[in-house]
Amino acid sequence: MNGAGIISLKPYLANFRFYEELNEFLPPEQRKQTIEYRFCGKPAIKDPIEVLGVPHSEVDLVVVNDQSVGFDYKLRNTDRVAVYPVFESLDITPVQRLRPKPLRKTAFIVDVNLGKLARRLRMVGLDTAYGNRLDDDEIVDIAVREKRIVLTRDRRLLFRRAITHGYWVRSDDPDTQLREVLQRLDLFKQVRPLRLCLDCNGKIEPVSRDQVWSDLEPLTRRYYQDFYRCSRCHKIYWEGSHVAHMNDAIRQIVDLQ
Ligand SMILES: [Zn+2]
Repeated sequence: MNGAGIISLKPYLANFRFYEELNEFLPPEQRKQTIEYRFCGKPAIKDPIEVLGVPHSEVDLVVVNDQSVGFDYKLRNTDRVAVYPVFESLDITPVQRLRPKPLRKTAFIVDVNLGKLARRLRMVGLDTAYGNRLDDDEIVDIAVREKRIVLTRDRRLLFRRAITHGYWVRSDDPDTQLREVLQRLDLFKQVRPLRLCLDCNGKIEPVSRDQVWSDLEPLTRRYYQDFYRCSRCHKIYWEGSHVAHMNDAIRQIVDLQ
């Protein structure tokens, strides 16, 4: 059988190019080059981007024929599409960012298998929700309701329509993950040690020795003066064990920025 006379069901052609780390979502043969995309009808630009493998939550800017467009832009025959990642700094003005309101409160919800990253984010003072029994639906619900950025190693989660802000964590080492998130989202200036409880994300507050005296071990009573307590789970933190260790860890991370 030959193809003569068969009318293509996808008569239109657009060219896509993905920039920087968005290439990590593409199969190797499509990375860092122009991808020919055949289509029919008038799909919103968000669809082909996701069909090609890139979660919309990773995209911050789409430029079609040198004009920035929104996710609802309808793809047309011969369009040239450039897709840029979130937080990529660009010298293109004026641009239409796809998210009118950045979530600059900076709060996270972390996927179930990233518990160690959750503790590290709290250690540097970043509001981080985490539960090791949450399913994907619950994670999406919390992200939307509490305006939290989703951090996950499972890129399929970021395809969920309701998620507006998400980041696919590349590394599988918790310390590297923390550095990666701080770097990619440019958060080094927001680092505030001793603000949040590592266990429960509650606020940590300075307390007097008298207030926690009855809960302290004898040696701790003897050697330490400065104490902090979680306002939610009442865990006590003090100089010497937790605080010095946390400050060291944070200094290492911040120095590497
Ligand atoms: Zn706590």
